[in-house]
Amino acid sequence: MRTHPLFPSLVLLAALSVTAACSPGASGPSGAATASGDARPGSATPSPGGSVDPSKIKGLEIVNDSSEQSSCPFATSYPGVPGAEAMTAVMKKEVERRLADFRAGTCEGDAGSAESRELNISHQFLVASGDVLGVRLTTQDHSAAASGLSTRTYWYDGKTGAYATPLDLVAEGSRDAFVDALKDRLDGREGVDAASLDGLFSDPAARAAALHDMSFTTEGALRVAFDRGEVGAPAAGAYVVTLPRATVTPWLSGFGQRAQRQTVRPDSSLDLGASHVPEPSVPTHTASGDDDTDCKKAKCIALTFDDGPAMPETSTLLTYLARYKARATFFTVGQNVAAHPDLVRAASRAGMEIGNHSYSHPDLTKLTPEQVASQLNRTSAAIEAATTGRTPTLFRPPYGAINATVRGATRLSPVLWDVDTEDWKYRDADKVARTVIDKARRNDVVLMHDIHPTSVAAIPRILRTLTARGYHFVTVSHLRATL
Ligand code: ZN
Repeated sequence: MRTHPLFPSLVLLAALSVTAACSPGASGPSGAATASGDARPGSATPSPGGSVDPSKIKGLEIVNDSSEQSSCPFATSYPGVPGAEAMTAVMKKEVERRLADFRAGTCEGDAGSAESRELNISHQFLVASGDVLGVRLTTQDHSAAASGLSTRTYWYDGKTGAYATPLDLVAEGSRDAFVDALKDRLDGREGVDAASLDGLFSDPAARAAALHDMSFTTEGALRVAFDRGEVGAPAAGAYVVTLPRATVTPWLSGFGQRAQRQTVRPDSSLDLGASHVPEPSVPTHTASGDDDTDCKKAKCIALTFDDGPAMPETSTLLTYLARYKARATFFTVGQNVAAHPDLVRAASRAGMEIGNHSYSHPDLTKLTPEQVASQLNRTSAAIEAATTGRTPTLFRPPYGAINATVRGATRLSPVLWDVDTEDWKYRDADKVARTVIDKARRNDVVLMHDIHPTSVAAIPRILRTLTARGYHFVTVSHLRATL
C-alpha cells in the first residue's frame, strides 16, 4: 500500500474535514452501502456501476477460500468466468499473495499478538455483458497499514482476448490530459498536497499503481477511487474523483468506450468467446414430505455446510445426501447465493434447510449494528429470491464470532456447532470422515464446508457408517423442534 508522509497540520486539517472521510465502493466487506468519497460538498453521489446478475453468467465459478477459526479469520473470493482466464489468473495471484502474507503473519506460529487481524476479500461485478467483463475486489485487511481497506478493479476485453488494467480504459495518447484532470480535481481538497500528487503520477509505473480502481457509473461518468492514505492524509479517508461523461469520453480507448457503453446500457448476455463453458448440473431430487424423525426417540445428527453454495461441490453433495435420504443445513454466503441461486433452490427442494452465513463472511463483531443488519438482510433476501420466498430463520456467524451487538441486530437465531471438523484447514477427505465418525454424538451439530471437494468426498463414508449405527440426519431446525 502506498502512503505519503504528511505534515501534522495537514493531518489535523484533514481529520477535521467532514467531506472526505468515506470509503470507496458501493459495498465493502461489510456489505453496507457507503457514501461516495467525492469531496465536493453538495455533489451528487455517483452511481458505482451497473447492477449485474451473476447467475446469468454461464459457467461462473466463485473461487472461495475461508477459515472458520477466530484465531485465523480469513475469507477470500474472486470470480472465474469462462473465457476470461487471463483476468482470473491476475486476481488469483493477487488474492493468493495477500492470503499467504496474512496466514504467515497471523495463523502460523505464535499468533498471540494478532488478535484484531482479519483478511476479507469480496468481489463485485461491475460489467458482465457483451464482450466486456469488469470486477472489483474489495480487501479489508486489518493487519495492513492505513485503513486496511483497498479496492482494485479488473477488466477483460473479450474482443481482443486480453486482460486490461484500469488505465487501459484510457487511450494512451490521452493519459496526460486525463491525469491532469484528476490532479485538478484532487488539488485543493482537504488533506491533499500538491507535492504528493506529482509523485503519485510521476511516471508510467507510478500511474499504473495509483490508478487501481476505475469504473463507470450508470450515467457513463468515469469513477476513479484512491485508497485511504494514497493521495492525502490517512485521516482524511479515501478519495473518489468522478469525471463526467462528456469530459472523459473523448479520452477513452476503444475498450474503454465499450466498457462505458456496457455499463450504461448492457447487452442481455456476456460472450467472451470461451472455448469451453461447463454446463451446470443441478440435482432435481424432491423431498417426500416433511421429516417425521422424532429426535427424542431416534439418534439424530445435524450436519451443517457453510460458505457455499459452490459449483460443482454443492451439487455433488446434494446427490450424496439424497442417496441416503439425509437432510442437512446449509449456511450460505450471500455473494455465492447470488451466483448460484439454482443450487440453493435445489437444496431447498430436496428438504435441506437454508441458513444465513452473512453476505461476504466478515467477523460480524467488528461491524456496526447497521453493517451487521446489511450483511444478514442482503443474504436473506438472496435466499428468499432463490427459493421463491422461503425465509431463513437461522444464521451462523462467521468464525463463530458473536456478541450482544450482533444478536441485537437481527431476529435470526444463531447456530454454532458441537463438532468442528476443521475441514478448511486439512483438506483431507479421510480425516474429515474419521473426525465426524469418531466425534459426533447424538444430537450434535457438525461443522463442515461444501466449498471443498475433500469435504464433499468424505460424505458418503460418513452417511454410510453413521446410518449403519442407527443415526438419522436432520436439519438444525428439526433437531431443535423435536428435542
Ligand atoms: Zn464460514
